[in-house]
Amino acid sequence: MKDTPALALQRLSHVYVNDKGASLAVEDIDLSVAQGEFVSLVGPSGCGKTTLLSLLAGLFPPTKGKVLLGGEAVSGPTPKVGYMLQQDFLFPWRTIRDNAAIGLEINRLKNRKTMEAVDWWLAELGLGESGHRYPHELSGGMRQRVALARTLVTEPNVLLLDEPFSALDLHIKLQLEDLVVQTLRKLGKTAVLVTHDLAEAAAMSDRVIVLGRNPGHIRKEIVVPAEIRDADPMTARKLTGFQLLFEELWSELDTVDAGGGESDK
Ligand code: ADP
Ligand code: MG
Repeated sequence: MKDTPALALQRLSHVYVNDKGASLAVEDIDLSVAQGEFVSLVGPSGCGKTTLLSLLAGLFPPTKGKVLLGGEAVSGPTPKVGYMLQQDFLFPWRTIRDNAAIGLEINRLKNRKTMEAVDWWLAELGLGESGHRYPHELSGGMRQRVALARTLVTEPNVLLLDEPFSALDLHIKLQLEDLVVQTLRKLGKTAVLVTHDLAEAAAMSDRVIVLGRNPGHIRKEIVVPAEIRDADPMTARKLTGFQLLFEELWSELDTVDAGGGESDK
């Protein structure tokens, strides 16, 4: 069982249908992510990154193909998958502690023991003193840490991260990248990150998937060299091989943007 990928997309295509007609968003995606692996999806806007995360989260079924979680077909949202977004979606009228417990409530897992886990996670993520405060009293970086606590406390095996750091100041973003990588590594969790920031993808990931568009497809998979992969993101950025990796990603995306039939709509 150890070799079963934590998640897999098999010959996956998705068509959105609405009153304007049907559009093929992603076509024939094959991707398999090992337990504990950190994979990033990069590509121009409209190449299907959010669509792929939504399919992984079981928010809607794919038009064609399969989504597998630990070898089992995904048939809807499950607590095994946690989703973290650019916006933190904290409820302003709830304390930080009660915000961090929302996932537990939704999954009917809230009890004394799991509330202890909430407090543990808040402390672990540097928010031990903030449990009784309200979201408006916190900085953007702290709010994203609450969102992370809220996600982790339900013990998902897979984390989906859709640009969770893109609204943050650079130094807060760099600190959070380190915190997220260290935390997920310690727990052996699997993660899929969507980001516009190629340096972020290079610094955090084991593997970077470059997508092209019209329709969304996998153009290239770049395995991050071991030296960079094994370092914390902040340290990784300073390694000699890092610039090379960044340039490889950059030129790959440049090709996507210049590519025939892949221009902006
Ligand atoms: P990305 O996250 O990479 O920017 P998306 O997954 O949001 O890309 O979108 C992929 C393609 O699917 C785009 O062409 C987009 O216009 C289309 N699309 C996304 N969501 C919908 C929707 N709800 N209805 C119709 N088309 C959609
Ligand atoms: Mg998107």
